[in-house]
Amino acid sequence: MQYDHILIRYGEMALKGKNRKMFILKLQENIQHKLNDFPNVKVKRTQGRMFILLNGHQPEPIIERCKHIFGIQSMSLAIKVENEESVIKEAALFALKKNPTIETFKITVKRINKDFPIRSQEMNQLLGRYLLTNTDNYTVDVHQPDMEIRVEIRLEATYITSSVIKGPGGLPVGTSGKSLLLLSGGIDSPVAGYLAMKRGVQIEAIHFHSPPFTSERAKQKVLDLTKQLTKFGKSIQVHIVPFTKLQQEIFRTMPDGYAMTIMRRMMMRISEQVCDQQSILSLTTGENLGQVASQTMESMNAINEVTTYPIIRPLITMDKSDIISISQEIGTYETSILPYEDCCTIFVPKSPKTKPKREKASHFEKKNDFSELLKEAVEGIETIKVTAKDNKKDTLDDLL
Ligand code: ATP
Ligand code: MG
Repeated sequence: MQYDHILIRYGEMALKGKNRKMFILKLQENIQHKLNDFPNVKVKRTQGRMFILLNGHQPEPIIERCKHIFGIQSMSLAIKVENEESVIKEAALFALKKNPTIETFKITVKRINKDFPIRSQEMNQLLGRYLLTNTDNYTVDVHQPDMEIRVEIRLEATYITSSVIKGPGGLPVGTSGKSLLLLSGGIDSPVAGYLAMKRGVQIEAIHFHSPPFTSERAKQKVLDLTKQLTKFGKSIQVHIVPFTKLQQEIFRTMPDGYAMTIMRRMMMRISEQVCDQQSILSLTTGENLGQVASQTMESMNAINEVTTYPIIRPLITMDKSDIISISQEIGTYETSILPYEDCCTIFVPKSPKTKPKREKASHFEKKNDFSELLKEAVEGIETIKVTAKDNKKDTLDDLL
């Protein structure tokens, strides 16, 4: 006897009415994709349930992998047996003995298949008695058991499940459209990307790179951060924008106090063009209200003027300490804090306006024609596909 299934529960998705079917299919596809290096594993749906069939694989590494798949609310190890009293008894006994640390248990039988001859209540008692007779150290506690053994007698078979393992929640990646994540090498933007993915968003990333002021290492850092995000989804495309010339021209020709605002506006314009090319409908940033000069309300107002795309700002109201906690949890923190040069930190104006005005920003911009440099930056974009594959092994080693 052994656990041969993992039962997947997907609570919140039940609320999604018409989209429900699409969400469930996406979740099934995402699970199958994340587990494709376990060759015998299958993901099946039956009547409102999703199961992973282990087919001989050990459940532990698979459970660990599933803790990163958004849309899974919880999981339980399950044993599938025939609808027959004696095998059900054996399976329940196995589930109890698998958990030697507990003292009390409770059995909950659900008889969905009314052809099964023993009623739920009677089956409860029968199984309880069987487990007590065949073990020494357990007692029944129906109110606060250490372990609840659930026995579900369904049409096709009976499933015995025990402890409930928490999943990550959220919605399956790919069910909420695509967004372009403005990814720097800092702490915030990877966390913003993670939170968007948790809400079902598939992301591509864009990074503004200013060589030789920013090094190859800074670019590699962004790719490393992206790789960490692929743990939660599939591969991610990263668009690296050569930003040096445009940035130099901005800082050469624009008033010092407005250079940063205008640089951000250029980032938005370029991002929008990438969205157009890639059929992406929104931008995502790691902005956080009041953190630095570029993130005051006035600043956001001035920067936002140049785009009509919705900007998702998952961190906007969060405390920095909470952002840091998430980045530690998801494994991006260690990479984010490595020293690096960012295009925004290299060209720091002496006195950036903390309350820029959009009219002024656009007035200054008109004094110079940036269109050629903008075009050149877009044409020079290098797109790199960062795949989840390469880090699957790391992920497992990290977790086990
Ligand atoms: P982060 O920790 O994400 O770097 P931050 O607190 O340093 O954010 P800013 O430097 O003001 O804040 O950047 C605000 C947001 O602008 C970032 O979260 C990111 O989404 C975007 N951004 C900044 N620099 C770059 C860059 N070089 N490439 C792409 N996006 C960037
Ligand atoms: Mg930064």
